[in-house]
Amino acid sequence: MKASSYPLFTQKNDPSDAEIVSHKLMLKAGLVRQQSTGQYSFLPIGYRVLKKIENIIRDEMDSIGAAEILMPSVQPSELWQESGRWGTYGLELLRLNDRHDREYCLGPTFEEVITDLVRKDLNSYKQLPLNMYQISTKFRDEIRPRFGIMRAREFIMKDAYSFHINEKCLDNWYQNYKDAYNNIFKRLQLDYTMVDADSGNIGGSKSNEFHVLAEAGEDDLLIDEKGIGINFEIAKAKYESNDIEKIVNENNLIHKKGIEVGHIFKLGDKYSKSMGLSIADADLNVNHLQMGCYGIGVSRIIAAAIEQNYDEKGIIWPKSISPFQIALVEIDGHKNESVRSFSNEIYQAMKKNSVEIILDDRNAKLGNKLHDWELMGVPNIAIIGKKEAENNIVTFKKRSGSEKESLSADQLISKLDTD
Ligand code: ATP
Ligand code: MG
Repeated sequence: MKASSYPLFTQKNDPSDAEIVSHKLMLKAGLVRQQSTGQYSFLPIGYRVLKKIENIIRDEMDSIGAAEILMPSVQPSELWQESGRWGTYGLELLRLNDRHDREYCLGPTFEEVITDLVRKDLNSYKQLPLNMYQISTKFRDEIRPRFGIMRAREFIMKDAYSFHINEKCLDNWYQNYKDAYNNIFKRLQLDYTMVDADSGNIGGSKSNEFHVLAEAGEDDLLIDEKGIGINFEIAKAKYESNDIEKIVNENNLIHKKGIEVGHIFKLGDKYSKSMGLSIADADLNVNHLQMGCYGIGVSRIIAAAIEQNYDEKGIIWPKSISPFQIALVEIDGHKNESVRSFSNEIYQAMKKNSVEIILDDRNAKLGNKLHDWELMGVPNIAIIGKKEAENNIVTFKKRSGSEKESLSADQLISKLDTD
């Protein structure tokens, strides 16, 4: 990628309408733009980060044996009537009618659709367990959309669903998903914790949430030193306030703010019963299937990652989700042929080695260019001016440090490899 022909949308001034750091930086660094309340377009840099996050999630879902699918975002009301949620889900469900006056909603979650899908195609218990997931747009008409993509109305979620012949199998898979979630949040290099949670609108018997720990979080967590704990909302529903105090003191729990980035549920037979999804087992006993569902707020993770990783200059991406690995910045390449051709040489060498690089060949001042890359949070920066071109080297610096090094092309490649 060359910056002269790549749409970058960095802004000089602080946006006036952003209350939290991640929202401000996402606007300033040109990651997203608001279309209307709670709806955002992802611009190239933001979209690259989103894709990185998606691919880590895909990789971990695939490795436990869940298969990717894609379901329609507009869902017929009949399915929601069957599950009983058409009447109970409330105003978050955006309802619409087609030209034949049939009722639909924009999918906020997909339990009904996937239960319908499986009941039409399942012939034998031998096909079980089934594990499927999608990464797609969800719509919830949130009462208070805020903080940019953190609490949006339209957002990207990964939702997985599992179907089992009995509870034991559901328990095993619930654990598999837990393990996969731990791998995902570790690979995303986030400081996170898992807590006992409430199953809310989705229903079911057991649920756990995954939270990125940050002051901007909307959830109150009580956690122990190992990072295990409970969502305060649950504690309040389950225990008297005196008892909560006792539990907090006995277990040395501390209060932290969390951003909910994942939520997994044992649904049991809630949907299989209401929607008639059952199958005969090996002993010819007919059972309603046991189900689980497993969500991750893919777009919310971008904001959560920024809340944990920034300084006064801008975003500092964890390596695993940075939009580019390195920005190669020319000094006056438009005026200096040797700078331009050496920059191109380095750029091609990096690309050959699968380094994700952007060459900043814009006709702009060095200071402005560096300012942009620091704002956008790219972790490595290499500079090429007259002196560097003459000596066949680049001046290398890390986003987070001030130390500069002179490196050859080979040295630069191995530096990025071992990073
Ligand atoms: P919240 O408590 O934040 O409203 P939820 O419990 O309603 O979320 P789930 O139904 O568990 O959300 O959805 C799975 C995941 O989708 C959540 O863990 C969260 O990361 C993400 N998510 C939910 N609502 C939004 C939203 N309005 N904007 C962005 N991400 C969201
Ligand atoms: Mg939740």
